[in-house]
Amino acid sequence: MYRIRIHGRGGQGIKMASRVLGSALFHAGFNVQDAPKYGAERRGAPIFSYVRAARAPINERGTIYNPDLVVVADDTLLAVPAAGTLLGLDAHTVVLVNSHQSADTWRQRLNIDGSLLILPAGTETEDRAALPHIGATCAGAAACLLGVIDRDVLAKAIDEELAELGPDTVTKNRTNALAAFDAMADQRGCVEEGAAIAATDYVPPEWVEMPLDAARVSAPIIRASGNSVEVRTGLWRTIRPVIDYDHCKHCWWVCSTLCPDSAITVTDNTPIIDYDHCKGCMVCAGVCPPHAIAGEPEYLAQQRETSLTEREGTDATDTADR
Ligand code: SF4
Ligand code: SF4
Repeated sequence: MYRIRIHGRGGQGIKMASRVLGSALFHAGFNVQDAPKYGAERRGAPIFSYVRAARAPINERGTIYNPDLVVVADDTLLAVPAAGTLLGLDAHTVVLVNSHQSADTWRQRLNIDGSLLILPAGTETEDRAALPHIGATCAGAAACLLGVIDRDVLAKAIDEELAELGPDTVTKNRTNALAAFDAMADQRGCVEEGAAIAATDYVPPEWVEMPLDAARVSAPIIRASGNSVEVRTGLWRTIRPVIDYDHCKHCWWVCSTLCPDSAITVTDNTPIIDYDHCKGCMVCAGVCPPHAIAGEPEYLAQQRETSLTEREGTDATDTADR
């Protein structure tokens, strides 16, 4: 059986990726399960979807803990433990990362045994309010790595699964998926099916006795990480919203109210983005009436900040020398 997990962020087409891959595997003669898994968070939050495919009936259910292929559509997730991208990897697992970094860089950073491949990340952002929509691209690359899906079967799956989005969207996603399929040609078929897992090997979790405390003690206080201001959700961001204050009309009740993470504060009628907690969902850019918020790829924004800091350091040294 093939067990595939696809990780990304809400809004990047991760659910669609599993649907396309599942549909293509079905057309290739497999029994298939595909499903997304996400919580209450919205765009920009880590999510994953998964696909099981086998020639025999599939009796497994639920999250995949022992994947044969893990696709990471957004490499910033690799630094977010809660995203679970590295869960259950072993020497048999193939990891495909959509990234500007090299495979060697990620191999050293992650210290993983299995094979790690790179799907080169694009740079374009066509819509100022959109996250990079790369579900079809990931599905195309994964289809090639499995080695059991032909190009025309992949195209057929995209045509079917995306039909309701209109011909332009279908054409664009088909083109991206087939390009990613072709880009992985040298590694075609590198993912091997995992062994069957016998239900008789299943060890149920042990019963946990919960102590009964007085309400004064046991009343909920949020202590867990992931629920605190201390969690820098800004680390999730791949696109950075940047306010052009020359065009901002100071209608701050629009962007500050509709930011799902309350990451836009207002000082003197001026909206200010808290980049420690802005997760880059780009809702603010979509709702800003005069289009005063633009998206900048996070890695470019960080490069810009680093060179600015270095320049300021050089200027300060020059001044001190004088
Ligand atoms: S919605 Fe746009 S124009 Fe209005 S305050 Fe926010 S950034 Fe400025
Ligand atoms: S500031 Fe904008 S991009 Fe950041 S979390 Fe709020 S709505 Fe999303």
